[in-house]
Amino acid sequence: MIVHTVADLRRERRKLPGRVAFVPTMGALHEGHRALIRAAKESAEHVVVSVFVNPLQFGEQADLDRYPRTLDADAAICAEEGAELVFAPSAAEVYPRPLEVSVQTGRMGEIVEGAARPGHFDGMATVVAKLFGMVSPDLAFFGQKDAQQLAIVRRLSEDLNLDVEIVAVPTVREPDGFALSSRNRFLSPEERVTGLALSRALFAGRDAVAEGPEAVLAAAGPVLEAAAKADPPLALDYLVLADPATFTQVPSGHRGPAVLAVAGRVGATRLIDNLPLEF
Ligand code: AMP
Repeated sequence: MIVHTVADLRRERRKLPGRVAFVPTMGALHEGHRALIRAAKESAEHVVVSVFVNPLQFGEQADLDRYPRTLDADAAICAEEGAELVFAPSAAEVYPRPLEVSVQTGRMGEIVEGAARPGHFDGMATVVAKLFGMVSPDLAFFGQKDAQQLAIVRRLSEDLNLDVEIVAVPTVREPDGFALSSRNRFLSPEERVTGLALSRALFAGRDAVAEGPEAVLAAAGPVLEAAAKADPPLALDYLVLADPATFTQVPSGHRGPAVLAVAGRVGATRLIDNLPLEF
């Protein structure tokens, strides 16, 4: 069933007995989203999927305007994967008036991806808090693909005692390694070839993990430098080795978990990817 208003959502939500798992999305669903819905389905009696392109987390109006909207296909995918409730509100339903009170993600939202997209994580965290309030889920599923988002949502749930268990799902990739994203449809074949450097750099870094953090960065860097000289070129935003919980960069002698994260732009399309590593 698809609902468009908070009132309808709450009414249908109350009818669901047992544990409810929630999968927030911006639609244009692909295999990555399917993996989230499947994982949710395995962990709870009922699955609620939201499809909402959140204006608050977009910096550029053009990026918001061109974001793909494919609600009929999305609803069909949700039904195929056994999600019984799809919540697809309008922007006016979610934001009936300008917010006076919203979530501040602080330093965690200003570094790495947050430095490239000012305000993005505050907008994301605000809508996630609102959606948690609307859906009242027991668990919520987020992709490892957006590793800093995942880290911030964990802190959101813990710091504000939202009582929602956050579950991470590994990144789903194309056979050649390219991480699935709703934005990939914008890439020309040539841009896709350049964009493949992101995952190739991450895999090159992973191959050097036994030699330590500096070797990982040294192995990944040249792949991205080559892509920056390709036609069309990659405009690299960052390559960092970060603490998966705080997203601060790990020191050179670091032992334990880390995330190798990369972001850049090919043509008009911004791409991000990451790999969790263990030192
Ligand atoms: P989005 O619709 O892009 O906002 O993504 C909705 C959720 O799907 C987020 O938790 C993303 O991290 C997750 N997601 C997006 N792409 C992938 C992927 N390739 N593999 C796994 N999860 C993904």
